[in-house]
Amino acid sequence: LVERMRPFGTTIFAEMSALAVRTGAVNLGQGFPDTDGPPEMLAAAAQALAGGANQYPPLAGIPALRHAIVEHEQRFWGLARDPDTEVVVTAGATEAVAAAILALCEPGDEVVCFEPYYDSYAASITLAGAVRRPVTLRPGPDGRYAFDEAELRAAFGPRTRLVLLNTPHNPTGKVFTPAELALIADLCQRHDTYAVTDEVYEHLVFDAPHTPLAGLPGMRERTLRISSAGKTFSCTGWKVGWATGPARLVSAVLRVKQFLTFVNAAPLQPAVAVALRLPDAYFTGFTATLRANQDRLVAGLTAAGFGVLPAEGTYFVTADIRPLGGTDGVEFCRELPGRAGVVAVPTQVFYDHQDAGRHLIRFAFCKRAEVIDDAVDRLRKLA
Ligand code: PMP
Ligand code: GLN
Repeated sequence: LVERMRPFGTTIFAEMSALAVRTGAVNLGQGFPDTDGPPEMLAAAAQALAGGANQYPPLAGIPALRHAIVEHEQRFWGLARDPDTEVVVTAGATEAVAAAILALCEPGDEVVCFEPYYDSYAASITLAGAVRRPVTLRPGPDGRYAFDEAELRAAFGPRTRLVLLNTPHNPTGKVFTPAELALIADLCQRHDTYAVTDEVYEHLVFDAPHTPLAGLPGMRERTLRISSAGKTFSCTGWKVGWATGPARLVSAVLRVKQFLTFVNAAPLQPAVAVALRLPDAYFTGFTATLRANQDRLVAGLTAAGFGVLPAEGTYFVTADIRPLGGTDGVEFCRELPGRAGVVAVPTQVFYDHQDAGRHLIRFAFCKRAEVIDDAVDRLRKLA
């Protein structure tokens, strides 16, 4: 293994899901739903499989899906795109993020990101030979995660190539505020950088609305917006994602993407197109279900004695283990199946400055109500 990849062990998600299987614990670690997505989407996939959509699709994705992606972005976020030149379908958001970084960063270029960060970001930045400049999100007295403005300003410099922004944010559940987005947009323009936004949780916001950075003045031309079907349509195993942006950035992503995977699962593409065109009621119903799940889990975690930091978005909630006598999240999560029969994920592994997250762990609430109730029941043993 090349030296630069040696610090990356097995992902924490695989480790914790294996631990859940081994111990029979309730798995609130890795974020994947335990119910299937919309039946119209599943039927369309079955039909495509049986109907012969089984050979290489076009490089940028099938036209029906590219059109559906554009219509969805227009319907929900008011962004106008050309489906022929401004959209590329990818193997999940993961490939889109990797291809974007590989396409835009020269070795030694710097990527400003927010820690804790989704784990593939660090690996993709490293694969590109680029350098990450993480800005720390810390919970404030109001329980909301925020960053220090001076720290963000200081992270930008002459080598900054792009900002990698994830909102709604995994693992903290933070939704970046309009003022925070305006500051990020201003810094991108001042330093003439690109922005790559990971918006896979775009439909999972519980209070304030979701705002794509690409919609802010001056940002459309410099932003690649990434999303995925996995979260919105409860099909994380399908790995159908996409990137949208100005043609010159999308064509740069395509140049790299064609040699990573070439194209992606043909029969799933018409099915995701069907899902993206579902009426608004599907999307609001999905959000409402997840919001109710979060309320259920937050009440249970609070009763079990955790210091809960409720999420503004995503399907994750973070909790402080110190009220329960915990000091190290990795240790706590390794012992949790034995102590209470539940699996969670330590968030400290998503920081460069691990001390900032040592006492925090993450629970997923994209699970059926009875599963959350079972987990909460088990966690009562800790109090
Ligand atoms: N970005 C974030 C913030 C995520 O939480 C995830 C996990 N699902 C991904 C990207 C990966 O998405 P996909 O499975 O579509 O590659
Ligand atoms: N995005 C999911 C999470 O944060 C898991 C993705 C993965 O296992 N790589 O839990």
